[in-house]
Amino acid sequence: MRVLVASPLDPGALDLLGSRHDLRVVPSPGEAEFCASIADRQAVAVRSGVVLNEQVMAAAPDLRIIVRAGSGLDNIDLGHARQRGVRVVRVNGVSSVPVAEMTFALLLALARNVVVADRELRSGHWPKPLLGGPMLRGKTLGVVGAGRIGGLVGEMAHAWGMRVLGCVADPRDEARRALATRGVTLTDLDTVVAEADFLCLHVPLCSSTRYLVDADLLARMKPGSLLVNMARGGVVDEQALARALQERTTVVGAALDVHENEGEGVLSPLAGLDNVVLTPHIGAMALEAQQIIGSRVVDLIDAFEAERLEQEVQDGELVV
Ligand code: NAD
Repeated sequence: MRVLVASPLDPGALDLLGSRHDLRVVPSPGEAEFCASIADRQAVAVRSGVVLNEQVMAAAPDLRIIVRAGSGLDNIDLGHARQRGVRVVRVNGVSSVPVAEMTFALLLALARNVVVADRELRSGHWPKPLLGGPMLRGKTLGVVGAGRIGGLVGEMAHAWGMRVLGCVADPRDEARRALATRGVTLTDLDTVVAEADFLCLHVPLCSSTRYLVDADLLARMKPGSLLVNMARGGVVDEQALARALQERTTVVGAALDVHENEGEGVLSPLAGLDNVVLTPHIGAMALEAQQIIGSRVVDLIDAFEAERLEQEVQDGELVV
């Protein structure tokens, strides 16, 4: 098949794709470059950070399959793919463990001032008395979006001695029971927001979650609480968060792995604040996970070419 890989992918997977297909690699193209490089392709593999919209798909008359090397689908126009009869599959689930572990990296970095401490020490300061912070044990963790990643974060927090509250879009008894066995109590968004000492976001970005965390929600957070966004940039109104973090009446610190505007040269509106930790969308960047994701991308493209995609796909992988 004629394959375009339009995002950074594991080198082993690129070798395999190159040995079996006509491979073109153009990592993170802008729209014009994307349109030019996809024009004669039958398959495209993308991660987050590139936008596969109607214009880009229109530039590729032979396009038959889109493979999302990860779980979020907010950068793909699914409606247009459906209309065009282009299949869309994703590699979901693999990133749950790395993203959940990274959530704890950010929770601890925030709670214990790890980044500020590092900065101060490098400038010759020893501000030990100023760097006290809360323990996690005994505190309440709120999980907004207790799905694959959020459920795992909840389970890990429970093992750390935290009380865990979560909410989902469609709270059914089955999910409630399954989460309860992992130490997560399912409740509503308002309760999660009001009671969480640490509030973690793990929802997909869609119309119902865009700016879910706005000025109003921030005002309802518990005084002294901390926010971690591992979901998508558009879930948080960053300007409203910047104001709330300056006022410090409710949320007093935030860590964000995902941002409304991402990429080289982009400066977050939160970058000037001390009580903020920022990382460049590295939640899933555990090396083992990247290898597994890469090899799954190869399997899915091979299966599509061999006309056995339906047999190959696992739970939640087939989108369109
Ligand atoms: P999932 O579908 O298993 O879980 C999402 C959960 O969010 C579901 O339980 C759903 O019911 C819930 N939800 C949806 N809308 C909601 C709302 N309005 N209020 C409350 N809950 C709501 O997905 P997942 O695999 O856990 O991934 C979640 C998201 O994490 C992805 O869509 C992606 O945006 C993000 N992600 C980030 C990284 C990263 O590197 N930071 C990596 C992978 C995924």
